[in-house]
Amino acid sequence: MKIAIVGSGYVGLVTGCCLADFGHNVVCVDKDEAKIAALARGSVPIFEPGLEDLAKANVAAGRLTFTTGLADAVRAAEVVFIAVGTPSRRGDGHADLTFIYDAAREIAAALDGFTVVATKSTVPVGTGDEVARIIAELNPGARFAVVSNPEFLREGAAIEDFKRPDRIVIGVEDDRARAVMTEVYRPLFLNQAPVQFTNRRAAELIKYAANAFLAMKITFINEVADLCEAVGADVQDVARGMGSDRRIGSKFLHAGPGFGGSCFPKDTRALVQIGADFGSPMRLVETTVAINDKRKAAMADRVAAACGGDLSGKTVAVLGLTFKPNTDDMREAPSLDLIRGLKNLGVRIAAYDPQGMEAAARILTGIRFAESAYDAASDAEAVVLVTEWNAFRSLDLARLKSTMAGSVFVDLRNVYRSHEMERHGFRYTSIGRPVEG
Ligand code: NAD
Repeated sequence: MKIAIVGSGYVGLVTGCCLADFGHNVVCVDKDEAKIAALARGSVPIFEPGLEDLAKANVAAGRLTFTTGLADAVRAAEVVFIAVGTPSRRGDGHADLTFIYDAAREIAAALDGFTVVATKSTVPVGTGDEVARIIAELNPGARFAVVSNPEFLREGAAIEDFKRPDRIVIGVEDDRARAVMTEVYRPLFLNQAPVQFTNRRAAELIKYAANAFLAMKITFINEVADLCEAVGADVQDVARGMGSDRRIGSKFLHAGPGFGGSCFPKDTRALVQIGADFGSPMRLVETTVAINDKRKAAMADRVAAACGGDLSGKTVAVLGLTFKPNTDDMREAPSLDLIRGLKNLGVRIAAYDPQGMEAAARILTGIRFAESAYDAASDAEAVVLVTEWNAFRSLDLARLKSTMAGSVFVDLRNVYRSHEMERHGFRYTSIGRPVEG
């Protein structure tokens, strides 16, 4: 099939590369000329494990190309995926649909022959209706159907998630479009990936409901971790005991500094707004957002408390900047709140991240970007482990300790064990775990 992907970011590129790998003929479109120029040179502008190799192989096989020319790509396509960003609108947290509607207008002008327009971006309920209205208004003769096909991939494991999804959700109101979408995903039916056909509004809501539920689960265990600290229980024991109940499941029960990233914060805020728009409040989600914002903002004080109070003029090493390991994505990363808070306390920051420093340098000023974890720790009063990259799971603790001025280690991901850290001379604190005797 001939497929155009509008928006070549994390989702668009992964979708494009994987669909090309299924044997489709794919053109990835982006309006960012630098991004397209890099892709045309064979360089993938984001860090996602395996993506560059997958792109190269499919370009070499003649199935994958990159362009800024949306019109030609759309004209030739049987299916056009919209994979542009839907960030939070400044001020009210509603999903900003500017990019979606701009893309819809550009697509409308270029449609030729029956075309399925499938929205991969996460969009509020009713957006598909509006995309269809825009296209019909701008191009009354166009033959098209708008489908909702939300994406559930996780950054850092995106290719595996796309190729072996737990489910594919397709919101479709039109039989012809349903047949086209079946064809797009046929290679996955062979892998027996479950496909759920539903209507467009349900598909749009499934994505938000799923993300909000996961965000709520994380927030729940974070509150349980606080309670564990108060009562002297270990949150990892509690999470294990809860998670082995199959009705609950063990995933997303890891206590930490609060959720961040490119999806959960903006999608929870957007779902609150969707509820308000339709007069059906999402109170659990509202509370989740509030608890999480407060938690992220409280991490700097937690570090200061671990250091015994005044940190002014001292150095803190921050290990891990991205919102999770195996990505270079810095969007709404917990490290940002932590660093902001520490700077307000007069702290000097030295930070290291295996992949995120280029993106971080575009957001963070006035901090030192180190060459390694050990370099970051040099002369530091405290080390804070923020993102659980593999590189930070097996630190040479003796070496780390020897470079520091102080001895505090704040483990916001519960990677280490307190007796091991104490053996190396650290004053160790983690999340929701009592100090071992
Ligand atoms: P992104 O910011 O990485 O990429 C969006 C791209 O779209 C950018 O490169 C931008 O230049 C391009 N773009 C915007 N308007 C365009 C236009 N009119 N024509 C051509 N290109 C245009 O965003 P992302 O992380 O890939 O997310 C895209 C959508 O997918 C969002 O709605 C997001 O919520 C959703 N989503 C993201 C993830 C994730 O893990 N990142 C997972 C599931 C769903």
